[in-house]
Parts: sequence; structure tokens; C-alpha cells
Amino acid sequence: MSLTRRDLLKIGTMAGAAAAVGGAVASPAQEPVPTPLRDAVGMLYDSTKCIGCKSCVVACADANGLQPDTRVDSLHQAPNDLNSFTKNIIKLYKPKYGESGTFAFVKRQCMHCVDPFCVAACPFHALEKNKVTGVVSWTADKCIGCRYCQLACPYQIPKFDWDAFNAKIVKCEFCKERLAAGKEPACTYVCPPKAVIFGRRDVLLREAHRRIENHPGKYFEDRVYGEKEAGGTQVLYLAAVNFDLLGLPHLSPTEHPSNWLRWQERVLKYFLLPVSIYGVMVAFLKQNFREHEAEVDEEHKKTGLMPQL
Ligand code: SF4
Ligand code: SF4
Ligand code: SF4
Repeated sequence: MSLTRRDLLKIGTMAGAAAAVGGAVASPAQEPVPTPLRDAVGMLYDSTKCIGCKSCVVACADANGLQPDTRVDSLHQAPNDLNSFTKNIIKLYKPKYGESGTFAFVKRQCMHCVDPFCVAACPFHALEKNKVTGVVSWTADKCIGCRYCQLACPYQIPKFDWDAFNAKIVKCEFCKERLAAGKEPACTYVCPPKAVIFGRRDVLLREAHRRIENHPGKYFEDRVYGEKEAGGTQVLYLAAVNFDLLGLPHLSPTEHPSNWLRWQERVLKYFLLPVSIYGVMVAFLKQNFREHEAEVDEEHKKTGLMPQL
């Protein structure tokens, strides 16, 4: 019997499912819904208070020993996005010419997800969530540079340092050394108008709702971004404009990795899926090769000629 590509795909899918079951993977419905840690730290960034001074960008680079990023503008430190020199950036949204609406700044850095996609995706636990503060950090000697964390993060935060000799992922780690020394993060410490503030996540969430109640109509949809998105984040946002315009993706509360990515983590961890698919492909190639040889023999018997290779 000849195996078609469609057969191969079917068998591959079944092999993947069998691999998942073989890895004793729990069904998604059995995974717990993530809840923020009791003492989770957080940041509240209020875009309506931000003046775009970028003091936080400079302070972040300084606190993290990052070299100035002058690749866009050789005179000024002016990165145009997060990169291997830049863990924190301020961007500006402005309506197109002729469109109504207001401009708005947005601060981007790791969101320190309540249930982090990057942690779930990393097969070697190089990314970990602190069990007390909830800060998501990276460990150099566990990282093999597979970059699954980059693919998994819905906020496109982790950056890979292509110039480093060893694999290096660069992202905000919530100034963990400053936290350990009893200090607040550099970005919140320096912000002149206190557009970004540091505190416990639950306290900051209450503060965000207090601002919404005190200023009806000021904030987009009276909503705190990060309260529920993908199970919640420890960096919370208030803004006057649609969060989509600020590059903050629409994620449903149930779209969190406890539901889906832990399947991938376990399957990849045991290499069951790649091994299963490889086995199916070898069987497919062998079968087709046997059929090809039989056709060659048949042709030879009929004509006495060998077909052209
Ligand atoms: S924002 Fe991305 S990098 Fe940061 S914790 Fe969430 S998934 Fe990980
Ligand atoms: S917490 Fe620290 S590393 Fe993260 S954005 Fe702020 S200054 Fe940068
Ligand atoms: S320091 Fe504060 S006001 Fe200045 S850009 Fe950063 S968040 Fe905005």
C-alpha cells in the first residue's frame, strides 16, 4: 500500500497525540486557572501622566549595565524598539493626519505575566517565575538559545543577543538586584511625574480602579490592561486610547499557558513529538523506496532497459 502525504499528516498527528498521552499530560481542563501570588510586586503605568521624557529608559540601561544604544541616532541614545541593548522603551502613538483622537505615550518592558508564556515554553527552565514576588527572570547557564521563549511571548518581549558568544536572552527582570537590596526599580524611581509607580500588584490594581472611578470618561473603556489579559500581568496599564493602538494585544482571560503551552513544554521536554514524527517519516520513506525499486524491476523485465536516474 502506498502512503500519501495526507496519510503521513494523519499518522503524524496521531503520533503527536499518542506522545502527549505517553508523557502523562493532563488535559487542559485539569490545569488550574492562574491567580496572582499573594505578595506579587507590580508596576502601574498611567499613559495619561507620561510626558515622554525617557528618563526611565536611561535609568533602566544604567541600572542594568547596558551599553547606550546609538544605532539609530549616533548622537543620542534613541532605540526604536526593545532590543538586546534595551529592556525598557517609551513609544509614541499619534493619530494619522486627518484622523481625530489624541496622542499617547506607552512604556514597554516585560509584563511579568501571572502565568508566563515564556516560562511554560522554555524546555530547560532558563526562565523562571519567582515564587514570592512573581518576577520572571532568566538564568544564563540553563539557556541553550532555542528561542522558544521569543516565539511564545504574546508581547514580543524577550530579545536575543546575536553578538554574545553564549546564548543570551535580554528582557526586563524587574531590577531584581535592586529589589533584593530593598530598592524600587530604577524606572519607577526616576520617573518625574510618577507616571509609572511601583508597589504590590493588588494595591496598584486598587489604585488604578480608584483613578478610573475618580475620573469618569478619562480612561479607555474604564479598563485596567493587565488585570485579566491572558490570566493577568504584574505590569498594569491605564490609557486614554485603545490599548490596541499602543501595541498591547487583545488577549482573553482564558488564553493563558496553563491551558495550552504546558502540553508543548512536556512533549518537547521528552522529545516525544519530534521522535514520533521522525519515526513516521522514516517509515514513509522506506515504504516509498521499496515501491520505487519494485517499479524499476518491473520496467526492466518489460523493456530490458534501466530507467534514467
Ligand atoms: S511578557 Fe513575555 S517575556 Fe515577560 S513574562 Fe510574559 S511571556 Fe514572559
Ligand atoms: S524594572 Fe528595571 S529592568 Fe525593568 S524596565 Fe524598569 S528599570 Fe528596566
Ligand atoms: S520617566 Fe516617566 S514620564 Fe518620563 S518617559 Fe518614563 S514613564 Fe514617561
